[in-house]
Amino acid sequence: MKPHWIVSTHHRMRTGSFAYAFLFCGVYLQGGAYPAWVWALLVLQFLVYPHLVYWRALWSRDSRKTELNNLLWDNVFLGVWCAGLGFPLWISFTLFTASAINSVISSGRHGLLGATATFLTGAALGLAACGFQSAYASPWVDVMCVLGLSGYLIGIGLIAYRRNMMLSSVRIQLKASEAAMSQANDGLQRQLAEIHVLKEQLHEQANRDPLTGLFNRRYLQATLERELARCRRNGTPLTLMMLDIDHFKSINDRYGHVAGDEVLRRMGEVLMAGARQEDVACRFGGEEFVLLLPAMPTEAAFARAEALRSQFAALSVPSPRGEVRTTVSIGVATFPRNGSTMDELTHSADLALYAAKRNGRNGVRAYRTDFGAVGPT
Ligand code: GH3
Ligand code: MG
Ligand code: MG
Repeated sequence: MKPHWIVSTHHRMRTGSFAYAFLFCGVYLQGGAYPAWVWALLVLQFLVYPHLVYWRALWSRDSRKTELNNLLWDNVFLGVWCAGLGFPLWISFTLFTASAINSVISSGRHGLLGATATFLTGAALGLAACGFQSAYASPWVDVMCVLGLSGYLIGIGLIAYRRNMMLSSVRIQLKASEAAMSQANDGLQRQLAEIHVLKEQLHEQANRDPLTGLFNRRYLQATLERELARCRRNGTPLTLMMLDIDHFKSINDRYGHVAGDEVLRRMGEVLMAGARQEDVACRFGGEEFVLLLPAMPTEAAFARAEALRSQFAALSVPSPRGEVRTTVSIGVATFPRNGSTMDELTHSADLALYAAKRNGRNGVRAYRTDFGAVGPT
């Protein structure tokens, strides 16, 4: 597993700085009569120990946490060495400052407290083990300490600078990816809006007759079921008006299909112009139309049909072969009186329409029970 960056950075710093400490402590030891085991301990402490604590962190479950604990051990051991060497001023100052600054960088004010406490503990242990030694002056060691500490602090400054640069480049990358994400999000929102519009258009196309712009038969069937259920619930009537253009075949024959189409379009306009918001005007097929009038009783619907009939009769559609004038026959049936289901109601309206045709066309008929026997003309 890759160790936390603090662990590898500390390993490099500790290996280098402890090796340097080995040098100045070695120069110091040379000035006194120290036995061989002290030299062995010096090697162990300053040349071997940095790798031992690195492995300790590597093999632990939380390498960062173990490394912070290693820092405390550094302080304890360095405290012992300072006491053991008789607290030489520059060595003590250098070792304490170098180890304390690491704890401060990693743990802030608590780090300083921890470093001081552990260093003093180490010093107390050193005093207990070796007694008070008297330090002697060594100008070479002092110079080495001053240079070493300066180099160490500058090194820490450089590491901090490098990490700052890395952080700001990560921040720039983060900002750029945030901008890209928001752009992608905008694009997605636009696409969703387009899909929504296309869906609406598709829905319209599926339910509209392209020639007249009225609803088609498919839409009527779905709506009639729903409207019937609503009127049944509310106890209101619902009138279905069926309109069929008279002798339309002969109009096509005389004026041509294009003129016939124009008549159908104008019929659509007449139906839409008089429709209320809740009315549903449909092209039922060919030259047949249906007008669904929710909450409208037969009498009112009859008057409406009369108005439509006379409007259409007054219509004059220009064509290359002359003015086209025609009429419409209308059958009216009302729920619940003339039928309680969709089929019954359209059948009744159809019968009323045939009655109007039979009666000479250009007329309106409301359904009556005796129309049941009326057949197609
Ligand atoms: P009636 O008065 O009995 O209704 O006579 P009619 O001629 O209108 O009845 P019929 O059902 O025999 O004729 C309907 C005609 O409508 C036949 C067909 O050519 C014409 N038609 C159907 N759809 C269209 C269309 O989209 N455009 C045009 N121009 N004519 C159409
Ligand atoms: Mg017809
Ligand atoms: Mg007809």
